[in-house]
Amino acid sequence: MYTGIFDTHTHYVHKAYNADRNELLGSLPAQGVDCVMLAGCHLRDSLLNIQLAEQYPHVWCAVGVHPKHLNDLAPDWIEQLRTMAMHEKVRAIGEFGLDRSFEGYDAEQQQEVMMQQFALAKELDLPVMLHFRDATGDALEALRQVRPKGVVHCFSGSAETARELTDLGLYLGIGGVLTYENARKIVEALPVIPDDKLLFETDCPYLSPAPDRRARNDSRNIAVVAERAAELRGTDAQTLIHIAAENGRRLFGIS
Ligand SMILES: [Zn+2]
Repeated sequence: MYTGIFDTHTHYVHKAYNADRNELLGSLPAQGVDCVMLAGCHLRDSLLNIQLAEQYPHVWCAVGVHPKHLNDLAPDWIEQLRTMAMHEKVRAIGEFGLDRSFEGYDAEQQQEVMMQQFALAKELDLPVMLHFRDATGDALEALRQVRPKGVVHCFSGSAETARELTDLGLYLGIGGVLTYENARKIVEALPVIPDDKLLFETDCPYLSPAPDRRARNDSRNIAVVAERAAELRGTDAQTLIHIAAENGRRLFGIS
């Protein structure tokens, strides 16, 4: 069993855990997972994150509005987010960003909502948890302009993009995608990520590692991702788990 695992991006308020949420979360430290960050997708999700994080010393959270959840956004959403972000369990703004992968997206609104969350994070001196999909060009442009501190979650880009993002000071969240058979780009990119910019994440319940990518994911599967990452970097999984956990604690201010 590995120790000191930090899962930096999860969705434990998801209904997939309704039957055993407390049992599962409560059992994680005894199984080597001693730190978990919950990512927020919209206002209600963010509030539930805070309530869940309050129950466990090893659980922390982010609050944010995901680019896929911009319909019926409350007019005062940014004020609501600011109020939530003041909570001591909140250690990041996110997940937010740009997503061009679905039908009917509003690029202008995504940009606007992203920029407001960048501004809020800066104002509160919190890191950001970023979601970018099919929008690398616009994402890089925004990042060069804003220079946020934070993590690009579920990174699956090229070695070149990995270099560019880490040169900007960003951390890269690596998860189950690394283990997929068709994961070519991220397999090439993994070795170029500097030690001090590597984070592990599950994005659970999504993105279970191979071979059963449709199964419900949870933080224990960081072990599978770390083993593959260690193979690609010529080191051992436990060493990488410790390095990545230390990075996560530094980024999110968790001692
Ligand atoms: Zn997520």
